[in-house]
Amino acid sequence: MNPRSPYICRSLSEKSQLPVEALPEHTIAIGGLNDGHSDHVFTLGADFFLACGREDFLGGQAQVDVGLEKNNHLLVARIHVKGHVEMLCDRCNAPMQQPVEGDQRQIFKLTGTGETDDDELVGLPTDTTEINLTHYIYECISLHLPIRHVHPQGECDPAVMEALERIQVNHVPDPRWAGLKDLNN
Ligand SMILES: [Zn+2]
Repeated sequence: MNPRSPYICRSLSEKSQLPVEALPEHTIAIGGLNDGHSDHVFTLGADFFLACGREDFLGGQAQVDVGLEKNNHLLVARIHVKGHVEMLCDRCNAPMQQPVEGDQRQIFKLTGTGETDDDELVGLPTDTTEINLTHYIYECISLHLPIRHVHPQGECDPAVMEALERIQVNHVPDPRWAGLKDLNN
C-alpha cells in the first residue's frame, strides 16, 4: 500500500470483488476546497459500466449526485445513484434495463497515516489534494442492484416464454429447449 497515493488505499472488502480503476472524470480536487458543502454531478454512460469488469454488465446509464461535506480533516461524501444497468434477464435471458437507485456514504479522514479503520472510513495522507470516487460509485451501484433481475411481467421474450410454458404443460421437454429450463428459476 502506497501511503502517498490519493486514490483507493484500502484493502478489498468482502462486498466488492475487485477495485474499479479510477477514472479521471471522477476525481474531485480537495486541495483548494474550503470547509463546507459542495455538490458534484457525474453522468455514467455505457463506457463506465463496461469498464467495471463485470461480465453481467452489458451497459447502462446513470446520474450520480455527490454531496461533499468538508470539515477540517474530515470529508464526508454522500453518493446518490439513479439510472439503469443493462443486464440479461434471469427469466428469458434477453437483454433488459435493470433500474438502480440508492445512496452510499463514504468518509475520508486526512489522518496522515493512510490507515483505514473500517469499510466506511478511509484514511488519507494529510497532504492529499484530490480524491477519486470511481470505486465508491461502482460500489453504490452494486449494493443497490437486486440479486434477481427480470423483465416486468409480460415483457419477456415471447418465444422463450412460450417454450418454457410448453415444457411445464407437457412435462416432456423438447430436447431443443431443454437448456432453457435453467433460465426459468
Ligand atoms: Zn425476460
